Amino acid sequence: MTSIVEPDAAAGHADEMDIDTAAAQRAYELDRRHVFHSWSAQDLIDPMVISAAQGSYVWDGHGNKLLDFSSQLVYTNIGHQHPRVTAAIAAQAATLCTVAPSHVNDARSEAARLIAARTPGMLDKIFFTNGGADANEHAVRMARLHTGRHKVLSAYRSYHGGTELAVNITGDPRRWPSDTGTAGTIHFFPPYLYRSAFHASTEEDESQRALEHLEQVIRLEGPDTIAAIMVESIPGTAGIYLPPPGYLQGVRELATQFGIVFIADEVMAGFGRSGKWFAVEHFDVVPDLLTFAKGVTSGYVPLGGVAISPEIAATFGKRVYPGGLTYSGHPLACAAAVATIEAMEDEHIVENAANIGETVIGPALQGFASRHRAVGEVRGTGVFWAIEMVKDRRTREPLAAYGGSSPEMTQLITEAKSRGLLVFANFNRIHVVPPCNISAEDARLGLAILDGVLDLADGFA
Ligand code: PLP
Repeated sequence: MTSIVEPDAAAGHADEMDIDTAAAQRAYELDRRHVFHSWSAQDLIDPMVISAAQGSYVWDGHGNKLLDFSSQLVYTNIGHQHPRVTAAIAAQAATLCTVAPSHVNDARSEAARLIAARTPGMLDKIFFTNGGADANEHAVRMARLHTGRHKVLSAYRSYHGGTELAVNITGDPRRWPSDTGTAGTIHFFPPYLYRSAFHASTEEDESQRALEHLEQVIRLEGPDTIAAIMVESIPGTAGIYLPPPGYLQGVRELATQFGIVFIADEVMAGFGRSGKWFAVEHFDVVPDLLTFAKGVTSGYVPLGGVAISPEIAATFGKRVYPGGLTYSGHPLACAAAVATIEAMEDEHIVENAANIGETVIGPALQGFASRHRAVGEVRGTGVFWAIEMVKDRRTREPLAAYGGSSPEMTQLITEAKSRGLLVFANFNRIHVVPPCNISAEDARLGLAILDGVLDLADGFA
C-alpha cells in the first residue's frame, strides 16, 4: 500500500506561532556564555535559536517560520511534535518515569518487540543504548567477544559516532583529530563511483572492484584477527551514496566466508528514511548486528540500540555480557519509540517516504542536475538525498574541500535560511533529508526554494 501524506496531516502545514522574542534573545545570550557546542570552534559560531516546531516546520527566535529539510540531525522522521508521541511521553512520565535496566518495564518490552519485528532476519534480541555511538561501541564489543578477535574494518567516507571507539571507526575527517590509532580499526575504500578510488566507469564495475579490494584488505590484515566489518547500509553524513548492485551482498558473503561479524549501522538510514524500515532491505541482506538510534523515537527522547542475531545472543546465554548503561531502555524513551513506530505504521509513513522520493524529490533533483552547472551529482532514495556541489563539472572540483567548508557553501546555506528553508550541509554537499511524513506540497515548496538557491550557486561554477 502506498500513500502520500496530504497537507494539514500531522507533518503538514502548522499554525503560526506566537514567539517570545525577548525570551529567545535571553536564551541566545545564555547559550553563548555557558553552552559548549559539538564539533564547533566556540567563538566562531552563531547558532540559531529555535523556539517552536510543528510537523515539518520550525520557528526561529525572531518568529520566522522555516521548512525543516534537515530533520534536525536527520532524525525527526515523523516531524516535530507528533501528538501521539508527545502524549505517550506525558502518559509514561505520569505513570513511571524511570526504572533501572535490571527490572522489567512494559514500555521497554513493547519497544523491543516492535523493533525486533521490523528488523530483517532473526535479529530479535535488542540491547538498548542512549544513542548511535554507544550502540556501535557495544556492537563492536559483542563482535569481539563473540569471535575472540580484535580488529574492526570500516569504510572511509563513513560516520559512526563521536565516542572514542566510534570516532576511530568513523572514516570521515571528524576522526582525524581524535584518532588514537590504538583501537584496532582499519579503513577500506567503499564503492563511490562519482569519485571512484578504483577508476571504474560503471556501478557494476565499481561494486566488483570494491569487493576485490575489501577481500584483499581482509587477507592482508589476517582474517583470524578481524572481529567485525561495520558499514552504514547507506552512508549518510559522508554523502548519501547508495551501495551499487551486489555490493552489500558481497560484503555479507565475505563476512560469512571469513567468520567475521557483519555490523550494519542504520543509525541514520533506519526507521523509514530510505523508504524502507531499514535500508538493508533494499539489498536483501541480513547483518549479524544492526545498530539504530535517531528515527526510532524521531529524536523526541534519546534512544539507540543493537539488534542481535541468535548466534551472537547465544554467546551471552551462559556468559555475562560485560557492558551496560544506567539508562538502557529508559521508559520515557521506550514509550516514545512505541508511539513513533505505531504512528509510522498506522499513517503509512515509510510508504510516504518511498513515494515522495520516487515521485517528488528524485525527479526534482534530477532536474537540478540537468539545469544547474554547480550540481555535480544527485543521489538518494526515500527522503535521503544529497546534492554534490562542484566548481567545475568536468573536473568535479568540489565547492568545498573534503573536510572543510567554503564561503560559497556558507553563503548558500545562509541564503536558503533567509528564504525559509533549513538544510543540512556537509563539506560540498547539500542534503535533502526532510521528515519521512512530509507532504508532497511541502516537499515541492522546499525544492522550489532550493532551485532558486542553486541559481546563486551557478554563479560560483
Ligand atoms: N552512526 C551513524 C550512521 C550516524 O549518522 C550517527 C550520527 O549522526 C551516529 C552513528 C552517532 O549517533 P549519536 O550521535 O546518536 O551518537
